Amino acid sequence: MNETQLSAADKELLFSGRWALNEALRVAKGQGCPPSVSNYIRDAIDVVTEVLDVENPSHVDGDLLPDTQGTPAELKIEEETLDGAKTDPARFKVYAAIGHNAGTGSKSIDGLDEWGTSKLVAERMKQLAPAYGVELMIGIRDRSKGYGDAMRLHGHRSDVFGSQLNLEIHRNAFNGKVTGTEFIVTSDAGSAAGRFFAAATSKFYPSADLRGKEGIRDRREGGRGAGFCRNGKAPAVLTEICFHDVESDWGKIRDDVDREARTYLSAAVAAIMFGTEKVPSLSAAGEFFDQVFPQGALSV
Ligand SMILES: [Zn+2]
Repeated sequence: MNETQLSAADKELLFSGRWALNEALRVAKGQGCPPSVSNYIRDAIDVVTEVLDVENPSHVDGDLLPDTQGTPAELKIEEETLDGAKTDPARFKVYAAIGHNAGTGSKSIDGLDEWGTSKLVAERMKQLAPAYGVELMIGIRDRSKGYGDAMRLHGHRSDVFGSQLNLEIHRNAFNGKVTGTEFIVTSDAGSAAGRFFAAATSKFYPSADLRGKEGIRDRREGGRGAGFCRNGKAPAVLTEICFHDVESDWGKIRDDVDREARTYLSAAVAAIMFGTEKVPSLSAAGEFFDQVFPQGALSV
């Protein structure tokens, strides 16, 4: 990798004093559980890797610094989720975090909020979960923490819940030109699970263009998204279903919350049933998926 490969936007970002200051503050404020040297180093590596990763366009999110209070919408979901997490003897436990916080992620081409649209998917997943045999806990990012620490808290909560699969729902954005679907992972177990998300996406969005290696973007070396994926015991997948700053991509996703929710639920179930011993090819994952859902997974 060398500096000349950086896009103009990356260069501007990398060398801007605002970026450096914000990232330093973000890392410094992100430490709390526990405030260790290794956590500082880990978060600093994630931050730098993100901007230097010229192969992997991903949006720069706006939630740089901790905020003190959840928005009413965030707090409402949090309350309902904590109440609902006790019951429901389901076969599969899934922790679904909504990426970012209200008003802090990227914006779609039509001005919609990343958190707001991902939230609709998480809520629909919660409604549909029992039909798929899933007990779902929705995760809200703690605004009072910086990125690294908020991600560690997600991991902790998912562990307490006993999650078998963690996902964080995002929409991607970059320069208004890049398109495609990718699932960010940081481990072999995450890759095995991620392959089912790629297989389900291929089935339910036939025109989806899978980026990375058959849809998998392995970020175990660091970078944005790594924090969420590495902090829980369960295999974790960060979903970037489309670039919502491009009409051709966003148009496939925008108006079908139900389809997106079912895609993630069915992928999660197939992934848990398959296990994490090996990473299946896309076609092997697709075949196993069809065995799990012989009648199709969209009408469960
Ligand atoms: Zn995002």
